[in-house]
Amino acid sequence: MVEEFAFDNTEERRKSRQMKDAGWIEVIVGSMFSGKSEELIRRLRRAQIARQKVQVFKPVIDNRYSIEQIASHSGMTHVSKPVMTAAEMMAQMEDETQVVGIDEGQFFDMAIVEAVNELAKNGKRVIIAGLDQDYLGRPFEPMPQLLSIAEYITKTHAICVKCGATANYSQRTSDSIERVEVGASDKYEARCRQCFVPHSDAPTVHE
Ligand code: ADP
Ligand code: ZN
Repeated sequence: MVEEFAFDNTEERRKSRQMKDAGWIEVIVGSMFSGKSEELIRRLRRAQIARQKVQVFKPVIDNRYSIEQIASHSGMTHVSKPVMTAAEMMAQMEDETQVVGIDEGQFFDMAIVEAVNELAKNGKRVIIAGLDQDYLGRPFEPMPQLLSIAEYITKTHAICVKCGATANYSQRTSDSIERVEVGASDKYEARCRQCFVPHSDAPTVHE
């Protein structure tokens, strides 16, 4: 078996190994308003300029903006396919796709972990952005698992709206206690460690 591998040198095999080497996982994490979507869109646009075939997905649960696109809080957009599950994303995956973009990764089911591993193994560059903490500051699955398997990790930060320091937390300002409560600046703000309180601090609940 060892010899077979050592002399595995044919043109075809070399090419297929090159394809496999080309696959990897990039994860972009941070709080809300930290620029995850902007960074994802920037990377996707560059891939398209390089004429690479790109497919972009986001979980259906995030309906903040138009369903057929991912959007940043600053107004950058990119077309994307809404999917309910990781399995549905895989079913829509095209063989020729070289770069897979995924936004709002925290809203995917755990099967996303195996799915992106498989895509990377098949030679695709996978870029997945998502919240690493929920509104209580708890790790937001499946992002911790995705961070563990990624080749490259980018942590983005926002600006604390209270004091101007580097913000690592998404403070909920509405009184919901659901883990998933979709919203933007109407329901969340970026806070630093000192200004963050690990519960919603809506004036109605904490007056
Ligand atoms: P994320 O995907 O991490 O939620 P986006 O890429 O959608 O972030 O939005 C980032 C943009 O949000 C910034 O470029 C800026 O225009 C805007 N923004 C609003 N509030 C803040 C804040 N407190 N700190 C930094 N950027 C903010
Ligand atoms: Zn602060």
